[in-house]
Amino acid sequence: MNQPMKRPVTEDAPRGLVCRTCGCRHFRVLYTRRAWGGRLLRRRVCRHCGRRITTYEQPAGSLV
Ligand SMILES: [Zn+2]
Repeated sequence: MNQPMKRPVTEDAPRGLVCRTCGCRHFRVLYTRRAWGGRLLRRRVCRHCGRRITTYEQPAGSLV
């Protein structure tokens, strides 16, 4: 899943993030924190089944 286009939406889930329980890609962000390395820790909950996951994201502008 390599999409050349970058969407400016920051609240969207990172690419490839899929709920392991139900397979959907729709997550609601519960909260965002600063993590080590200047990254962002996001606590997300699946809108479909309610599974909670934690993701680490690079802040916008510093994508590798
Ligand atoms: Zn789910």
